[in-house]
Amino acid sequence: MAIEPASSITEVVRLARRAAARGWAPATSGNFSARIDGARAAITTSGVDKGELSETDVLVVDIDAPLPPRASAEAPLHLRLYRDRPEIGAVAHVHSPAATAISLFCRARGAVHIVGLELAKAFRGVTTHEAALAVPVLDNDQDMDRVAGALKTSFFGPGSAPGFLLAGHGLYAWGRDPGEVWRHLEAFDFLFEVALRMEQLGR
Ligand SMILES: [Zn+2]
Repeated sequence: MAIEPASSITEVVRLARRAAARGWAPATSGNFSARIDGARAAITTSGVDKGELSETDVLVVDIDAPLPPRASAEAPLHLRLYRDRPEIGAVAHVHSPAATAISLFCRARGAVHIVGLELAKAFRGVTTHEAALAVPVLDNDQDMDRVAGALKTSFFGPGSAPGFLLAGHGLYAWGRDPGEVWRHLEAFDFLFEVALRMEQLGR
């Protein structure tokens, strides 16, 4: 059944405002999108305060067509995820302090390892706290097509965390719909906070 673009736009606005309210999209950073159907997505425009986002700040774009000028520099990565992964229905990119700090701390390891945490079950497909998840940390890059090329199939396999980090930059997370991607954002933030506190304790 086709989804009305208007409802996707409203959901993108809500997702962006909720993330801004948590301090995850400072200084106009971050971008948020939702798939409308097989050919289109709704995505936030560039350079807008996400806490004051309105419906007119969300573009409806063709997944396969060149992006309009108002699109964010990071929009190509969102569209690449929609093109390559039919199961993905929403994507969020945030510059949260916990994600940014842990990305730098774990850069040399290439991943943030999450083991033995109950809240990992908030991720789709994870059914036990005993699951060992690795959240990949990729080098930051201003060329989002190059970042998209660095994504591996294993990032999307069963039991993998639904996202990855760019070192010194932030988090990309996805889900089947905006509600699920919000749950994943909250889980990532909690797990990164715990990982940082454990590092501070030297554990
Ligand atoms: Zn960014």
